[in-house]
Amino acid sequence: MDLLADLTTPQREAVMHVDGPMLVLAGAGSGKTRVITRRVAYLLKQGIAADNILALTFTNKAAGEMRERIEALTPGARVWVGTFHGFCARLLRTHGSLVGLDKAFTIYDQSDRLKTVREVLDALGIEDPPITPEKIESAISKAKNDLASPKSLAFRARDDKDRLVAKVYAAYEERLKGASAVDFDDLLVHVVSILKNHKDVRASLDARFRYVLVDEYQDTNMAQYAIVRALSVDHPNLCVTGDPDQSIYGWRGANLSNILEFEKDYNFVKVVKLEHNYRSTKNILSVADHLIQFNTNRKPKALITENSRGEPVDLTVYGRESDEAEGVAGRIQSLVRDGSYNYSDVAVFCRITALTRTFEQAFRSARIPYQIIGGVSFYERQEVKDVVSYLNLINNPKDDLAFTRVVNVPPRGLGKTSFEHLISAARERGETLLETARKAKSVPGLKDKAIRAFLDFTQLYDELAALRDDSVEKVILQLMEKSGYRQHLKDEPGDKGEDRLANLEELITAAREFDAEHAGATIQEFLSDITLASPIDRWDQQTGAVTLMTLHAAKGLEFPVVFIVALEAGILPHSRAFDNPSEMEEERRLLFVGITRAKRELFLSRCRIRSFRGQQQATAQSQFLTELPREFMVYEDRSGVVTSERGWSPSSSSSSGYASRRPEPRPNPTPSPAAFRLTTAAQLGGGSFPTTTPTSDLDAFRPGASVLHPEYGLGRIVSVDGAGPNRKGKIAFTLSGEKTFVLAKSPLKVVG
Ligand code: ATP
Ligand code: MG
Repeated sequence: MDLLADLTTPQREAVMHVDGPMLVLAGAGSGKTRVITRRVAYLLKQGIAADNILALTFTNKAAGEMRERIEALTPGARVWVGTFHGFCARLLRTHGSLVGLDKAFTIYDQSDRLKTVREVLDALGIEDPPITPEKIESAISKAKNDLASPKSLAFRARDDKDRLVAKVYAAYEERLKGASAVDFDDLLVHVVSILKNHKDVRASLDARFRYVLVDEYQDTNMAQYAIVRALSVDHPNLCVTGDPDQSIYGWRGANLSNILEFEKDYNFVKVVKLEHNYRSTKNILSVADHLIQFNTNRKPKALITENSRGEPVDLTVYGRESDEAEGVAGRIQSLVRDGSYNYSDVAVFCRITALTRTFEQAFRSARIPYQIIGGVSFYERQEVKDVVSYLNLINNPKDDLAFTRVVNVPPRGLGKTSFEHLISAARERGETLLETARKAKSVPGLKDKAIRAFLDFTQLYDELAALRDDSVEKVILQLMEKSGYRQHLKDEPGDKGEDRLANLEELITAAREFDAEHAGATIQEFLSDITLASPIDRWDQQTGAVTLMTLHAAKGLEFPVVFIVALEAGILPHSRAFDNPSEMEEERRLLFVGITRAKRELFLSRCRIRSFRGQQQATAQSQFLTELPREFMVYEDRSGVVTSERGWSPSSSSSSGYASRRPEPRPNPTPSPAAFRLTTAAQLGGGSFPTTTPTSDLDAFRPGASVLHPEYGLGRIVSVDGAGPNRKGKIAFTLSGEKTFVLAKSPLKVVG
């Protein structure tokens, strides 16, 4: 195949650039990922050895796809394509000893980290920490991503909370070291430190990975920046692509200045701009473009497409959240029934995973096949985690966390007290738990039964560890038999045990596939693979199902039809971002990323009433909706609550200005407005808002009364002041804070 035939001139220019640093700075859907893939193939065609090329992507899924495409373009080439974390894990297997790591180190996942933080708090005797273990854990992660040590964190600490984080961080590091474990961030941090402190290793890696390519560079953090930088000193053939408008991982330490300052970091940078979008219709792109212009901290950038205008972007307001979910389900069914699309062409994006439940329900009752990306990942399920912990312990006998997890699984009659005796003896002697368990007889306080149980466990361990070099599948099968875990699940009453065994069958299948693909590979490599897997890796766009996922997970993907739901203040933008302008800009970019995933049709929606912590609450629309251009959109209110809505833009006086609504040839299965009933429907007076309140009704406005406002939602009257037409009321809105109105001119309605 001709590698260059279906590329535009600037794309070709980027693909054919071989030596020297290059920055491909380009908008969504302009072919950045395509350029990276083609460039790898092009380099190979120029005779550059596959070994000299390193391509780094954001997810394993993206890496897998890229590998497949490279394989199709240049059969037989085995280029190193992977994520930063996967790349670092592999480097550490060779060079880990330079930072004091055993060969058989364990990689801790999110739940392992949290567990470790809790254990550290316990060990330090801190019962009631002033910040949650989750927050401590994320503060530690952030420190690591900024390459800050416990010492520097302690030095910078400004209050007790900071000091606590620094203290826990130090103890956490000790623990990981003792268990010969690393967390995700360490994978990067250790590699940074090797590259920094071992000049020979750095130079040899720089020479080996002569050509480095990084996609989605706008989302790299300090550590990733340092790694790429260190690999591109003697051979600065570094090509990065990115779009600053799609930077959505600031909360995880991504640093936008990495891309913005690329030209300052390297000499003679070739900059390629791609301004044509090949993905979306004109309407979709115009909506995205208008929205992102509200960000002040950005460089203006054109987004042009030769694609057709397409359908207008659809914005629909529903009543309750279930109406929204049913409405979306109905629309999906019509689109598929029409023959226009398959289920797998459709994606539904939410800001937070908690929202997916309502959609699952609606899809189930509408018999729409769907798959969810995110939520509890497969490898976090208890039974999977149990078996994986056995594997971890077999691989790394120092892994105390794995020991803790499996020593009483299936139950061996070990109580909390026995376990505490073992832990304190181990700590005192500076041994691992497994070592101390071997000497259970000498542990003070242990009863005979517990001694027996610990000794039996170590015997089982030795039998299993002897199998270490067998295929991964065989090790798993054996450990399930010998430990009695399979029998234990079989004996579980009801279907639960069956379900768990079915999940384990899936794990065994994964192991079998791994064995087949990686002849002679070790348990450690399998463990590293599955620990670094992200939920998106298991996703298959070809399954004939609608995809339900978070906006964050949607990065880099594209779908013919996209729904973005729950566009409400507090959800998108997330309430956490309200007081922080730069976080608000990141929330806007998140919506921008969502919008630009859509190829042909885009549906936006929100509902008016959402249950929150068991209570029904009026919502306020997302402020981003007011920033979208109406001329490329159609608007419909299906809530039935508001008949004289003043439009969804506060500055407008009516819902005019929209493109005309497309004729709806398909039956509309969503409930008609009349079918919508609100708990307070009676109080709402038939469900319509007055445009203003007649002066005679003003008496109803008394402090303490509940009111509903079409824009700001539900609120309570704090105080009233003045008389007649000048009477003013101060209202505290549930979601929008306090506001004052001249009551006679306001569209407020007393609801209770
Ligand atoms: P994102 O910013 O979302 O990551 P991107 O810049 O990486 O997007 P790609 O995913 O590479 O963009 O390309 C977007 C779509 O446009 C893909 O479907 C791709 O196949 C198509 N495309 C890219 N370049 C061309 C081209 N020259 N001709 C036709 N289609 C193209
Ligand atoms: Mg891309």
